[in-house]
Amino acid sequence: TSPIATYFMLLLVFLSRLVSTLGKPKPRTQLLPPKLQNRLLADPDSIELASSDYGNMFREIPASVLYPSSINDIESLIKFSHNNSAPFTIAARGQGHSVRGQAMARNGVVVNMPSLKNQRNGFGITVSTNLSMGFFYADVGGEQLWIDVLHATLEHGLAPVSWTDYLYLTVGGTLSNAGISGQTFRYGPQISKVYEMDVITGIGDFVTCSPEKNKKLFYAVLGGLGQFGIIVRARIALEPAPKRVKWVRMLYNDFDAFTRDQERLISINGRKQKNSLDYLEGLLLMNQEVAKFYDDQTLNSVDKDLQDLFEGLSFIPGFTFDKDVSYVDFLNRVRSGELKLQSQGLWDVPHPWLNLFVPKSQISDFNSVVFKEIVLKRNITSGLVLVYPMNRNKWDDRMSAVIPDEDVFYTVGFLHSSGFNDWQALDVQNKDILQLCYNAGIEVKQYLPNYKTMEEWKNHFGMKWRTFQERKAQFDPKMILSPGQRIFNNN
Ligand code: FAD
Repeated sequence: TSPIATYFMLLLVFLSRLVSTLGKPKPRTQLLPPKLQNRLLADPDSIELASSDYGNMFREIPASVLYPSSINDIESLIKFSHNNSAPFTIAARGQGHSVRGQAMARNGVVVNMPSLKNQRNGFGITVSTNLSMGFFYADVGGEQLWIDVLHATLEHGLAPVSWTDYLYLTVGGTLSNAGISGQTFRYGPQISKVYEMDVITGIGDFVTCSPEKNKKLFYAVLGGLGQFGIIVRARIALEPAPKRVKWVRMLYNDFDAFTRDQERLISINGRKQKNSLDYLEGLLLMNQEVAKFYDDQTLNSVDKDLQDLFEGLSFIPGFTFDKDVSYVDFLNRVRSGELKLQSQGLWDVPHPWLNLFVPKSQISDFNSVVFKEIVLKRNITSGLVLVYPMNRNKWDDRMSAVIPDEDVFYTVGFLHSSGFNDWQALDVQNKDILQLCYNAGIEVKQYLPNYKTMEEWKNHFGMKWRTFQERKAQFDPKMILSPGQRIFNNN
């Protein structure tokens, strides 16, 4: 190319950048109250943190980052945007453990939730052991990590009953999705164990909500992908904490036997539930781990209970591995892996994850169409593939979270890690998986969903779409909150 052509090309690039910057006005935050202005930073470190996430694949640059010192700061910021003639977007950022920019806000303001830590209620976690209401609970700041909730509640001999596999996630972040793991089949997702919340809506109103009070907002926010308000407090159900865990891993060489056994193990309900497992997860290829909690009272019966549960199962005899660990070590099992990866510089690599819910009636087709055809043949799986079932009756359909319309459904999580230059190949594979499911009529729902078009979001929400839209119009009419989900801010 000639120097003149190069000059014009550069000029064109410069002009197009200028136009795109001009087209997206930055928030005029200089009009904010001075107290809040001091808490808004746009230094390179703040911008870098807020424009990245665990996925390490996408970046969106915010105009600034709010480090709130109180809930009031968040309220003022949202009110200011809402009442502005040119409202700007606002995203709460918990740990930024999303993988596709869900906690980012291009040209908007990212609220760094961890800076609220230790600012409220002492440690931001208050445990109520007064049984006058008939149940135990903890009031927990939305910014708090589940690991801290665990430690604080254990001091009272109590603990939440529903967990994620990994505990360094914020309460607000997981309640915006669902919060699932091997306990969900028995105890429900984390969103089903919330009694009450304080939420700051997209209008800037501070609202206390529960199934009795402001219930529309309560159900909207749980699984609501951050669209209706910022959770600043959640009242989480607690129960007496078990002390120890029998943790057993078994191997399978037949997918149908593997899923049949999983379904059998999660179906033990009703009177027998007391003896049932507390946790069940499966991994491709094909090992299954289960756990049963116990304490001094059940010490003598736990092995017998497990033996009874395993009777008639089809795992490969002689290939079971069991451990006896403390309750905390069991719940915090992913942490040692994280620290190891961190020490090797492998924690901050790209993570093109894909999480799906698959109806039970189609898990065998999923095995033929996806696992056999794509994953095994292409051999580019790098990371864990989780496969385990849960019961629909443990979910509350009034909440925003979306699950398949079948009594039992599986979660299939492709938890890939990759090099910085080859995550696209895994992402193409993810798209192929979705396309193959579509072609084969397998009605999957994405967990931690990510879509590009409004049509896809409509499809995802199905019957819930109208309600979701109405709730958005009521609680965040100017479409300020969590733009990184790209539901209503899809540009
Ligand atoms: P962010 O990524 O910071 O935010 C997620 C979304 O929630 C954004 O849209 C954000 O704007 C919004 N948000 C954040 N805080 C609030 C708030 N207080 N109020 C309202 N909206 C808010 N998920 C599971 O269910 N089970 C697992 O076992 C599990 N394991 C994981 C393990 C690892 C290593 C990682 C990286 C993720 C895992 N996840 C799991 C996914 C995780 O639950 C979600 O990514 C969750 O959103 C992360 O929480 P976060 O605090 O980092 O939220």
